[in-house]
Amino acid sequence: MDSKQIGIEEVKSSIRDVIDFPKEGIVFKDITTAIKDPAVFKYCVDQLYNYYKDKGITKVIGIESRGFILGSALAYRLNAGFVPIRKPGKLPADTIQQSYDLEYGTDTIEIHEDALSNDDTVLIHDDLLATGGTVCAATSLVEKIGVTKTYINFMVELDFLKGRERLDEKYEVYSLLRF
Ligand code: AMP
Repeated sequence: MDSKQIGIEEVKSSIRDVIDFPKEGIVFKDITTAIKDPAVFKYCVDQLYNYYKDKGITKVIGIESRGFILGSALAYRLNAGFVPIRKPGKLPADTIQQSYDLEYGTDTIEIHEDALSNDDTVLIHDDLLATGGTVCAATSLVEKIGVTKTYINFMVELDFLKGRERLDEKYEVYSLLRF
């Protein structure tokens, strides 16, 4: 048993900044240095569980691929199902797709068309909110299926990129940490 006392500042300082990854000018927030510590990993899952436990979540959606890590642990604790949103060509059955703009070009994500029902209460989880493009594409997929109750969660939010402004009016957004 790891009895180390963990708080939000310990989680924050356990995230590693990798300069110029995946390209020049980006400071990549590497969560692997946080989640490899069992006490930090447990603290993060427990904090998110406590925040969402009374919201009636029936499905947690994780966005490929770092969204699968806390997303699936959280689904287990919430007694909810887990649904992956993936890059094109990875999901084997019929999917619906959504494209979104990147700095240069576009990207696409997809979900199995039968993964959710319109009476689900959904929590979309990703490791990090930057500009908000990825999560907006995820909300479009969920809306196309007809889900009306959607929460959004991140482990890390980069305030200076103002991704939250694209979401706040329509969704309840909660981030464990903000830089
Ligand atoms: P965005 O669509 O701009 O909000 O970007 C969010 C997605 O890109 C998430 O899936 C993140 O994992 C990844 N991402 C973007 N910027 C960073 C960053 N600085 N550090 C780590 N991951 C990032």
